[in-house]
Amino acid sequence: MAKATEKGWKPRTLSVHAGARRSQYGEVAEPIWLTQGFVYPSAEAAETRFLKAGEDEFIYARYGNPTVAAFESRIAALEGYEDAFATASGMAAVSGALMSMLKAGDHVVAARALFGSCLYVLDEVLRRYGVRVDLVDGTDLDAWRGAVTPQTALVFLESVSNPTLEVIDLSAVADIAHQAGARVVVDNVFATPVFSRAAELGADVVIYSATKHIDGQGRCLGGVILGSRDIIRGTVEPYMKHTGGAMSPFNAWVLLNGLTTLDLRVRAQTASAQRLAEALQGHPKLARVIFPGLPDHPQHAIARSQMGGPGTMLAIDLAGGKEAAFRFMNALQIVLISNNLGDARSIATHPATTTHQRLPDAQKALLGITPGLIRLSVGLEDAGDLCDDLMAALEAA
Ligand SMILES: *Cc1c(COP(=O)(O)O)cnc(C)c1O
Repeated sequence: MAKATEKGWKPRTLSVHAGARRSQYGEVAEPIWLTQGFVYPSAEAAETRFLKAGEDEFIYARYGNPTVAAFESRIAALEGYEDAFATASGMAAVSGALMSMLKAGDHVVAARALFGSCLYVLDEVLRRYGVRVDLVDGTDLDAWRGAVTPQTALVFLESVSNPTLEVIDLSAVADIAHQAGARVVVDNVFATPVFSRAAELGADVVIYSATKHIDGQGRCLGGVILGSRDIIRGTVEPYMKHTGGAMSPFNAWVLLNGLTTLDLRVRAQTASAQRLAEALQGHPKLARVIFPGLPDHPQHAIARSQMGGPGTMLAIDLAGGKEAAFRFMNALQIVLISNNLGDARSIATHPATTTHQRLPDAQKALLGITPGLIRLSVGLEDAGDLCDDLMAALEAA
Protein backbone atom coordinates (compact mmCIF):
# COMPACT_ATOMS: atom_id res chain seq x y z
CA MET A 1 0.00 0.00 0.00
CA ALA A 2 2.12 2.95 1.19
CA LYS A 3 5.14 0.83 0.24
CA ALA A 4 5.60 2.74 -2.99
CA THR A 5 5.59 6.06 -1.14
CA GLU A 6 8.31 4.76 1.15
CA LYS A 7 10.55 4.39 -1.87
CA GLY A 8 10.27 8.15 -2.30
CA TRP A 9 8.69 8.02 -5.74
CA LYS A 10 7.27 11.25 -7.15
CA PRO A 11 3.54 11.49 -7.97
CA ARG A 12 4.06 10.96 -11.71
CA THR A 13 5.82 7.66 -10.98
CA LEU A 14 3.26 6.60 -8.40
CA SER A 15 0.41 7.36 -10.80
CA VAL A 16 1.88 4.87 -13.31
CA HIS A 17 3.10 2.10 -10.99
CA ALA A 18 1.68 2.28 -7.46
CA GLY A 19 -0.68 -0.49 -6.38
CA ALA A 20 -0.17 -2.79 -9.40
CA ARG A 21 -0.91 -6.42 -8.53
CA ARG A 22 0.54 -8.86 -11.07
CA SER A 23 -0.69 -12.42 -11.43
CA GLN A 24 1.55 -15.46 -12.07
CA TYR A 25 1.49 -14.51 -15.78
CA GLY A 26 3.39 -11.28 -15.22
CA GLU A 27 1.07 -9.25 -17.45
CA VAL A 28 2.15 -5.66 -18.23
CA ALA A 29 -1.29 -4.02 -18.11
CA GLU A 30 -3.33 -4.47 -14.95
CA PRO A 31 -5.88 -7.28 -15.33
CA ILE A 32 -9.57 -6.84 -14.58
CA TRP A 33 -10.49 -9.33 -11.87
CA LEU A 34 -14.13 -9.42 -12.91
CA THR A 35 -15.32 -11.72 -10.14
CA GLN A 36 -17.82 -11.31 -7.32
CA GLY A 37 -16.17 -13.89 -5.11
CA PHE A 38 -13.14 -16.05 -4.34
CA VAL A 39 -12.47 -19.78 -3.87
CA TYR A 40 -10.77 -21.06 -0.73
CA PRO A 41 -8.36 -24.00 -0.82
CA SER A 42 -10.12 -25.62 2.17
CA ALA A 43 -12.97 -25.17 4.62
CA GLU A 44 -10.39 -24.24 7.24
CA ALA A 45 -8.97 -21.56 4.97
CA ALA A 46 -12.46 -20.09 4.48
CA GLU A 47 -12.99 -20.03 8.24
CA THR A 48 -9.63 -18.32 8.79
CA ARG A 49 -10.26 -15.73 6.12
CA PHE A 50 -13.71 -14.86 7.45
CA LEU A 51 -12.18 -14.49 10.90
CA LYS A 52 -9.58 -12.06 9.60
CA ALA A 53 -8.69 -11.54 5.95
CA GLY A 54 -4.95 -11.01 5.52
CA GLU A 55 -3.27 -8.39 3.32
CA ASP A 56 -4.43 -8.96 -0.28
CA GLU A 57 -6.92 -11.68 0.69
CA PHE A 58 -10.48 -11.26 -0.57
CA ILE A 59 -13.87 -12.68 0.37
CA TYR A 60 -16.56 -10.97 -1.66
CA ALA A 61 -16.45 -8.07 -4.12
CA ARG A 62 -18.78 -5.97 -1.96
CA TYR A 63 -15.94 -6.04 0.63
CA GLY A 64 -13.03 -5.78 -1.77
CA ASN A 65 -11.57 -7.06 -5.04
CA PRO A 66 -7.99 -7.10 -6.42
CA THR A 67 -8.68 -4.58 -9.22
CA VAL A 68 -10.53 -2.30 -6.81
CA ALA A 69 -7.66 -2.70 -4.32
CA ALA A 70 -5.15 -1.70 -7.03
CA PHE A 71 -7.11 1.50 -7.61
CA GLU A 72 -7.33 2.15 -3.85
CA SER A 73 -3.60 1.62 -3.32
CA ARG A 74 -2.65 3.85 -6.24
CA ILE A 75 -4.79 6.81 -5.22
CA ALA A 76 -3.81 6.46 -1.55
CA ALA A 77 -0.13 6.53 -2.51
CA LEU A 78 -0.72 9.57 -4.74
CA GLU A 79 -2.63 11.48 -2.06
CA GLY A 80 -0.35 10.60 0.82
CA TYR A 81 -3.01 8.77 2.86
CA GLU A 82 -2.50 5.38 4.50
CA ASP A 83 -5.56 3.82 2.96
CA ALA A 84 -8.61 4.28 0.72
CA PHE A 85 -12.03 2.72 0.13
CA ALA A 86 -13.40 2.88 -3.42
CA THR A 87 -17.13 3.41 -3.92
CA ALA A 88 -19.74 3.15 -6.65
CA SER A 89 -19.93 6.93 -7.15
CA GLY A 90 -18.78 10.18 -5.63
CA MET A 91 -22.03 10.43 -3.68
CA ALA A 92 -21.59 6.89 -2.32
CA ALA A 93 -18.26 8.18 -0.98
CA VAL A 94 -19.76 11.37 0.53
CA SER A 95 -22.75 9.62 2.12
CA GLY A 96 -20.66 6.61 3.20
CA ALA A 97 -18.04 8.77 4.92
CA LEU A 98 -20.65 10.91 6.69
CA MET A 99 -22.96 8.06 7.69
CA SER A 100 -20.11 5.92 8.98
CA MET A 101 -18.41 8.71 10.93
CA LEU A 102 -21.53 10.23 12.55
CA LYS A 103 -24.28 9.20 14.95
CA ALA A 104 -27.50 10.71 16.29
CA GLY A 105 -26.86 13.73 18.50
CA ASP A 106 -23.60 14.70 16.77
CA HIS A 107 -23.08 18.24 15.53
CA VAL A 108 -21.73 18.99 12.02
CA VAL A 109 -20.59 22.31 10.59
CA ALA A 110 -20.42 22.53 6.79
CA ALA A 111 -19.66 25.22 4.24
CA ARG A 112 -22.94 26.25 2.62
CA ALA A 113 -21.60 26.41 -0.97
CA LEU A 114 -22.06 22.73 -1.76
CA PHE A 115 -22.78 20.37 -4.61
CA GLY A 116 -26.58 19.82 -4.62
CA SER A 117 -26.45 16.14 -3.63
CA CYS A 118 -23.99 16.86 -0.79
CA LEU A 119 -26.44 19.47 0.47
CA TYR A 120 -29.24 16.88 0.34
CA VAL A 121 -27.23 14.37 2.40
CA LEU A 122 -26.30 16.97 5.03
CA ASP A 123 -29.50 18.95 5.15
CA GLU A 124 -32.11 16.21 4.71
CA VAL A 125 -30.64 12.77 5.41
CA LEU A 126 -28.37 13.51 8.36
CA ARG A 127 -30.94 15.77 10.04
CA ARG A 128 -33.53 12.98 9.70
CA TYR A 129 -31.20 10.74 11.72
CA GLY A 130 -30.78 13.28 14.51
CA VAL A 131 -27.52 14.92 13.45
CA ARG A 132 -27.49 18.70 14.00
CA VAL A 133 -26.13 20.50 10.93
CA ASP A 134 -25.07 24.15 10.72
CA LEU A 135 -24.17 25.68 7.35
CA VAL A 136 -21.75 28.62 7.26
CA ASP A 137 -20.09 30.88 4.70
CA GLY A 138 -17.00 28.74 4.11
CA THR A 139 -14.77 31.70 3.26
CA ASP A 140 -15.53 33.45 6.60
CA LEU A 141 -13.20 32.09 9.31
CA ASP A 142 -15.15 33.94 12.03
CA ALA A 143 -18.27 32.08 10.93
CA TRP A 144 -16.41 28.77 11.37
CA ARG A 145 -15.10 29.91 14.79
CA GLY A 146 -18.63 30.85 15.83
CA ALA A 147 -20.23 27.60 14.69
CA VAL A 148 -17.66 24.97 15.76
CA THR A 149 -18.06 23.97 19.43
CA PRO A 150 -16.68 21.15 21.61
CA GLN A 151 -19.85 19.23 20.62
CA THR A 152 -18.90 19.38 16.92
CA ALA A 153 -17.93 15.92 15.68
CA LEU A 154 -17.20 16.75 12.06
CA VAL A 155 -16.57 19.60 9.66
CA PHE A 156 -17.40 19.19 5.97
CA LEU A 157 -16.39 21.38 3.06
CA GLU A 158 -15.63 21.49 -0.63
CA SER A 159 -12.07 22.84 -0.85
CA VAL A 160 -13.10 24.71 -4.03
CA SER A 161 -16.84 25.17 -4.32
CA ASN A 162 -19.13 24.26 -7.18
CA PRO A 163 -20.00 26.29 -9.25
CA THR A 164 -18.70 29.62 -7.93
CA LEU A 165 -15.12 28.46 -7.22
CA GLU A 166 -14.80 29.82 -3.70
CA VAL A 167 -11.55 28.55 -2.21
CA ILE A 168 -11.70 27.67 1.47
CA ASP A 169 -8.69 28.22 3.73
CA LEU A 170 -8.38 24.55 4.57
CA SER A 171 -5.50 24.75 7.04
CA ALA A 172 -7.23 27.52 9.04
CA VAL A 173 -10.55 25.63 9.12
CA ALA A 174 -8.74 22.39 10.04
CA ASP A 175 -7.05 24.20 12.97
CA ILE A 176 -10.42 25.48 14.22
CA ALA A 177 -11.97 22.02 13.89
CA HIS A 178 -9.07 20.13 15.47
CA GLN A 179 -8.92 22.50 18.45
CA ALA A 180 -12.55 21.53 19.12
CA GLY A 181 -11.79 17.83 18.62
CA ALA A 182 -13.76 17.61 15.35
CA ARG A 183 -12.67 15.67 12.26
CA VAL A 184 -12.28 17.38 8.89
CA VAL A 185 -13.85 15.80 5.79
CA VAL A 186 -13.06 17.45 2.45
CA ASP A 187 -14.83 16.94 -0.88
CA ASN A 188 -11.83 17.66 -3.06
CA VAL A 189 -13.14 17.23 -6.61
CA PHE A 190 -12.31 20.69 -7.94
CA ALA A 191 -8.81 20.71 -6.39
CA THR A 192 -8.07 17.37 -8.16
CA PRO A 193 -5.59 14.78 -6.83
CA VAL A 194 -2.89 16.51 -8.89
CA PHE A 195 -3.07 19.88 -7.12
CA SER A 196 -4.41 18.85 -3.72
CA ARG A 197 -2.35 19.26 -0.59
CA ALA A 198 -5.33 18.43 1.63
CA ALA A 199 -3.52 15.69 3.59
CA GLU A 200 -0.71 17.99 4.70
CA LEU A 201 -3.14 20.89 5.35
CA GLY A 202 -5.07 18.84 7.90
CA ALA A 203 -7.91 16.98 6.14
CA ASP A 204 -8.60 13.78 8.10
CA VAL A 205 -10.65 12.37 5.25
CA VAL A 206 -10.63 13.34 1.57
CA ILE A 207 -13.32 12.34 -0.90
CA TYR A 208 -13.22 12.33 -4.68
CA SER A 209 -15.85 11.72 -7.28
CA ALA A 210 -13.65 9.63 -9.60
CA THR A 211 -16.32 10.23 -12.25
CA LYS A 212 -14.67 13.61 -12.84
CA HIS A 213 -10.94 14.13 -13.52
CA ILE A 214 -9.83 10.62 -12.48
CA ASP A 215 -11.76 9.03 -15.31
CA GLY A 216 -11.53 12.24 -17.29
CA GLN A 217 -13.19 10.69 -20.31
CA GLY A 218 -16.82 10.58 -19.21
CA ARG A 219 -17.12 6.79 -19.13
CA CYS A 220 -18.02 5.63 -15.66
CA LEU A 221 -19.05 6.55 -12.14
CA GLY A 222 -16.78 6.05 -9.18
CA GLY A 223 -15.71 7.55 -5.89
CA VAL A 224 -13.11 7.13 -3.18
CA ILE A 225 -12.71 7.88 0.53
CA LEU A 226 -9.13 8.45 1.73
CA GLY A 227 -7.80 8.59 5.29
CA SER A 228 -5.79 6.85 7.97
CA ARG A 229 -5.92 3.04 8.10
CA ASP A 230 -7.83 3.41 11.35
CA ILE A 231 -10.63 5.53 9.82
CA ILE A 232 -10.81 3.62 6.52
CA ARG A 233 -10.67 0.05 7.84
CA GLY A 234 -12.09 0.71 11.32
CA THR A 235 -14.95 3.11 10.54
CA VAL A 236 -15.63 3.41 6.79
CA GLU A 237 -15.14 -0.18 5.61
CA PRO A 238 -17.58 -1.86 8.05
CA TYR A 239 -20.32 0.58 6.97
CA MET A 240 -19.56 0.40 3.24
CA LYS A 241 -19.20 -3.36 3.03
CA HIS A 242 -22.54 -3.98 4.71
CA THR A 243 -24.49 -1.22 2.93
CA GLY A 244 -23.32 -2.06 -0.59
CA GLY A 245 -21.84 1.03 -2.24
CA ALA A 246 -18.90 -0.93 -3.69
CA MET A 247 -17.05 0.06 -6.87
CA SER A 248 -17.33 -2.45 -9.72
CA PRO A 249 -14.03 -4.13 -10.77
CA PHE A 250 -14.56 -2.95 -14.35
CA ASN A 251 -14.91 0.66 -13.26
CA ALA A 252 -11.88 0.27 -10.97
CA TRP A 253 -9.84 -0.86 -13.98
CA VAL A 254 -11.00 2.13 -16.07
CA LEU A 255 -10.22 4.51 -13.19
CA LEU A 256 -6.85 2.88 -12.42
CA ASN A 257 -5.84 3.60 -15.99
CA GLY A 258 -7.31 7.08 -15.63
CA LEU A 259 -4.87 7.72 -12.78
CA THR A 260 -1.97 6.82 -15.09
CA THR A 261 -2.60 9.88 -17.29
CA LEU A 262 -4.26 12.13 -14.68
CA ASP A 263 -1.28 14.38 -14.03
CA LEU A 264 -0.67 15.16 -17.71
CA ARG A 265 -4.35 15.74 -18.43
CA VAL A 266 -5.04 17.98 -15.44
CA ARG A 267 -1.94 20.12 -16.04
CA ALA A 268 -2.78 20.57 -19.73
CA GLN A 269 -6.43 21.38 -18.97
CA THR A 270 -5.38 23.83 -16.24
CA ALA A 271 -2.95 25.64 -18.56
CA SER A 272 -5.80 26.08 -21.07
CA ALA A 273 -8.19 27.24 -18.32
CA GLN A 274 -5.67 29.89 -17.26
CA ARG A 275 -5.26 31.06 -20.86
CA LEU A 276 -9.04 31.21 -21.41
CA ALA A 277 -9.68 33.04 -18.13
CA GLU A 278 -7.10 35.67 -19.07
CA ALA A 279 -8.56 36.03 -22.57
CA LEU A 280 -12.12 36.37 -21.25
CA GLN A 281 -11.31 38.80 -18.45
CA GLY A 282 -12.66 42.29 -19.15
CA HIS A 283 -14.86 41.17 -22.07
CA PRO A 284 -17.69 43.73 -22.39
CA LYS A 285 -20.42 41.05 -22.30
CA LEU A 286 -19.13 39.55 -19.05
CA ALA A 287 -19.94 40.86 -15.58
CA ARG A 288 -17.41 38.50 -13.99
CA VAL A 289 -14.79 35.90 -14.82
CA ILE A 290 -14.18 33.63 -11.82
CA PHE A 291 -10.97 31.59 -11.84
CA PRO A 292 -8.70 30.96 -8.84
CA GLY A 293 -5.66 31.57 -11.06
CA LEU A 294 -6.63 35.20 -11.73
CA PRO A 295 -5.10 37.76 -9.32
CA ASP A 296 -8.53 39.39 -8.80
CA HIS A 297 -10.08 36.15 -7.47
CA PRO A 298 -11.00 36.85 -3.80
CA GLN A 299 -9.05 33.81 -2.58
CA HIS A 300 -6.25 33.90 -5.16
CA ALA A 301 -3.56 33.92 -2.45
CA ILE A 302 -5.12 30.97 -0.60
CA ALA A 303 -5.44 29.03 -3.86
CA ARG A 304 -1.76 29.66 -4.59
CA SER A 305 -0.61 28.59 -1.15
CA GLN A 306 -2.79 25.51 -0.70
CA MET A 307 -3.04 24.06 -4.20
CA GLY A 308 -0.39 23.14 -6.73
CA GLY A 309 -2.44 24.84 -9.47
CA PRO A 310 -5.73 26.71 -9.98
CA GLY A 311 -7.60 23.81 -11.61
CA THR A 312 -9.52 23.08 -14.76
CA MET A 313 -12.77 24.91 -13.91
CA LEU A 314 -13.80 28.49 -14.49
CA ALA A 315 -17.06 30.40 -14.31
CA ILE A 316 -18.28 33.37 -16.34
CA ASP A 317 -21.24 35.61 -15.63
CA LEU A 318 -22.95 37.06 -18.67
CA ALA A 319 -24.17 40.59 -18.04
CA GLY A 320 -27.24 39.89 -20.21
CA GLY A 321 -28.59 37.26 -17.75
CA LYS A 322 -30.26 33.98 -18.66
CA GLU A 323 -31.17 34.94 -22.26
CA ALA A 324 -27.59 35.92 -23.05
CA ALA A 325 -26.27 32.81 -21.27
CA PHE A 326 -28.52 30.54 -23.34
CA ARG A 327 -27.61 32.34 -26.60
CA PHE A 328 -23.94 31.89 -25.68
CA MET A 329 -24.33 28.17 -24.95
CA ASN A 330 -26.36 27.51 -28.08
CA ALA A 331 -23.70 29.21 -30.23
CA LEU A 332 -20.83 27.02 -28.96
CA GLN A 333 -19.39 24.73 -31.63
CA ILE A 334 -16.73 22.78 -29.72
CA VAL A 335 -17.71 23.14 -26.06
CA LEU A 336 -20.53 20.73 -25.20
CA ILE A 337 -23.64 21.55 -23.18
CA SER A 338 -23.59 18.96 -20.40
CA ASN A 339 -23.03 18.64 -16.66
CA ASN A 340 -19.94 16.48 -16.19
CA LEU A 341 -16.64 18.12 -15.36
CA GLY A 342 -12.96 17.26 -15.56
CA ASP A 343 -13.64 15.59 -18.92
CA ALA A 344 -11.30 15.66 -21.93
CA ARG A 345 -14.16 17.41 -23.75
CA SER A 346 -14.81 21.00 -22.69
CA ILE A 347 -18.25 21.36 -21.14
CA ALA A 348 -20.51 24.35 -20.40
CA THR A 349 -23.17 24.13 -17.69
CA HIS A 350 -25.87 26.65 -16.69
CA PRO A 351 -26.15 25.90 -12.94
CA ALA A 352 -29.26 28.02 -12.26
CA THR A 353 -31.42 25.91 -14.59
CA THR A 354 -29.72 22.51 -14.23
CA THR A 355 -27.44 21.38 -11.37
CA HIS A 356 -28.79 23.99 -8.93
CA GLN A 357 -32.29 24.34 -10.39
CA ARG A 358 -34.03 23.14 -7.23
CA LEU A 359 -32.49 25.77 -4.93
CA PRO A 360 -34.86 28.61 -3.97
CA ASP A 361 -33.97 31.91 -5.68
CA ALA A 362 -32.84 33.49 -2.42
CA GLN A 363 -30.33 30.69 -1.86
CA LYS A 364 -29.09 30.92 -5.44
CA ALA A 365 -28.50 34.63 -4.90
CA LEU A 366 -26.71 33.95 -1.60
CA LEU A 367 -24.38 31.46 -3.34
CA GLY A 368 -23.73 33.77 -6.29
CA ILE A 369 -25.56 31.51 -8.77
CA THR A 370 -26.85 34.33 -10.95
CA PRO A 371 -29.02 33.88 -14.09
CA GLY A 372 -26.02 34.69 -16.31
CA LEU A 373 -23.57 32.31 -14.61
CA ILE A 374 -22.00 29.56 -16.74
CA ARG A 375 -19.60 26.96 -15.41
CA LEU A 376 -16.91 25.92 -17.86
CA SER A 377 -14.94 22.71 -17.52
CA VAL A 378 -11.91 23.08 -19.74
CA GLY A 379 -10.89 19.97 -21.68
CA LEU A 380 -7.95 18.77 -23.73
CA GLU A 381 -8.78 20.47 -27.04
CA ASP A 382 -6.40 23.02 -28.57
CA ALA A 383 -6.58 26.12 -26.35
CA GLY A 384 -6.65 28.43 -29.39
CA ASP A 385 -9.65 26.59 -30.84
CA LEU A 386 -11.43 26.83 -27.49
CA CYS A 387 -10.68 30.53 -27.23
CA ASP A 388 -12.09 31.14 -30.71
CA ASP A 389 -15.20 29.11 -29.85
CA LEU A 390 -15.87 31.07 -26.65
CA MET A 391 -15.23 34.44 -28.29
CA ALA A 392 -17.54 33.67 -31.23
CA ALA A 393 -20.26 32.50 -28.85
CA LEU A 394 -19.90 35.68 -26.78
CA GLU A 395 -20.30 37.65 -29.99
CA ALA A 396 -23.56 35.74 -30.63
CA ALA A 397 -24.73 36.38 -27.06
C1 LIG B 1 -19.79 15.26 -9.07
C2 LIG B 1 -19.55 15.64 -7.67
C3 LIG B 1 -19.97 14.81 -6.61
C4 LIG B 1 -20.73 13.53 -6.85
O1 LIG B 1 -20.04 12.59 -7.60
P1 LIG B 1 -20.79 11.42 -8.44
O2 LIG B 1 -19.67 10.59 -8.94
O3 LIG B 1 -21.58 12.10 -9.51
O4 LIG B 1 -21.68 10.70 -7.49
C5 LIG B 1 -19.71 15.23 -5.33
N1 LIG B 1 -19.07 16.38 -5.07
C6 LIG B 1 -18.65 17.21 -6.06
C7 LIG B 1 -17.94 18.46 -5.71
C8 LIG B 1 -18.86 16.86 -7.39
O5 LIG B 1 -18.45 17.67 -8.37
